[in-house]
Parts: sequence; structure tokens; C-alpha cells
Amino acid sequence: MAAVQKNSRRRTEEAGTRLPLLESGKKPPILLHICCGPCSTHVIDLLKETYQPIGFFYNPNLFPRDEYFKRLEATAKVSRRQGTALWIPPVVPDPWLDAVKGHESDPEGGRRCEICIRLRLEVTAWMAKSACLGTFGTTLTISPRKNSKKINQLGSDLAGKAGLSFLEADFKKKDGFLKSVQKSKDLELYRQDYCGCCFSMAAR
Ligand code: SF4
Repeated sequence: MAAVQKNSRRRTEEAGTRLPLLESGKKPPILLHICCGPCSTHVIDLLKETYQPIGFFYNPNLFPRDEYFKRLEATAKVSRRQGTALWIPPVVPDPWLDAVKGHESDPEGGRRCEICIRLRLEVTAWMAKSACLGTFGTTLTISPRKNSKKINQLGSDLAGKAGLSFLEADFKKKDGFLKSVQKSKDLELYRQDYCGCCFSMAAR
């Protein structure tokens, strides 16, 4: 078992994650913020080697409403295939719109995105804390359009404040993004062509 864990640990580290030390062969739970089904495919595959991932679909940024349900359905399909839990909290878009007010015209990757990602990770951290889960993470770093360094910094800051651990990762490494595209095709998942909010849809 120790050798299996050692190999799993090495493979996941190669994909750009920092892992906790495991004790007595037990995989610790991790609350994984999931942005969409395609991004979750490869990330869950990697994390299952070391953790018991619990998916958390919290994305009040998604617009329009149909898009929210398309991405949720794809995420649920992946979770069913993987045999992993998926938590779906109620979502009210108004606080998200209030939070990004004044940043409607920001380019993708700018301040609006930082606010958007922080809000989603804040709620994930709160949920992890409420459920007595010590670690949380996100699928977001698998996207080539996302700045992994900034996301890791945000997650770690939030974790520090909440007394939790954040799984720093860069899942796009080692062809992670390409693998997620292929796995999504294999599963015939819905794949979006814009980031998610009304502003990114208009700029598409
Ligand atoms: S472009 Fe994406 S990350 Fe940026 S605010 Fe819109 S949904 Fe959020």
C-alpha cells in the first residue's frame, strides 16, 4: 500500500499539485470546487489517486440560466461515472452581480475575474469549514485561460483565514487540459465556448 501511495503521490505531483502526507493508507476528503463537467474529468481522475473528492458546483456567475443547467448536468454525469459525491448549493446570482459591479467592461483575466473566482472559492472554503472538511481545491487551474498562480494565491489566503488547507495545483500541466478535452469527448459532454458570465458571453 505504501508503494501505491508513493506512486500516486509522485504522479499527482507531476501534474502540478502539492499533496499532504498520508497516514495509514486512508485517503482524506477534499471539497473540490467544480466549474464545469469537462474541467472536472481529468482533475477528479488525478485527485482520486490521493483523496476522496467531493464535488461542489457553486457558480453564480453562469449566464443565462440554461447555461447553468447544461454545465451542472455535465458535471453530474462525470460525478456519476466517477462514483464521487456532488454537492449543489442553491445559487442566487444577485450577490455575484453586485460583487462585480463597476467591472463589467474589464477584459477576461482582469479584476472582474479575480472577484468572481474569489467569491466562488470563499463559499467553497465556508462550505468545507461547515462540513468539517480540512482541505478544499478547485478545477479552475486546468483552463489555459486561467492564471494558476493567482488562483493558488487566492485559495491559500482564504484557507489561511479559515484555518483550512488549499490544494495548490496547476492541472493544465503535463497536457492536463488536452486530456480533459479528450475525456470530455469520450463522455460526449457538453462543452461551452465562453467562460461563463454574461460579459464573457458578449465578448465571445
Ligand atoms: S470571464 Fe469567467 S472568471 Fe471572469 S468574471 Fe466572467 S465567468 Fe468569472
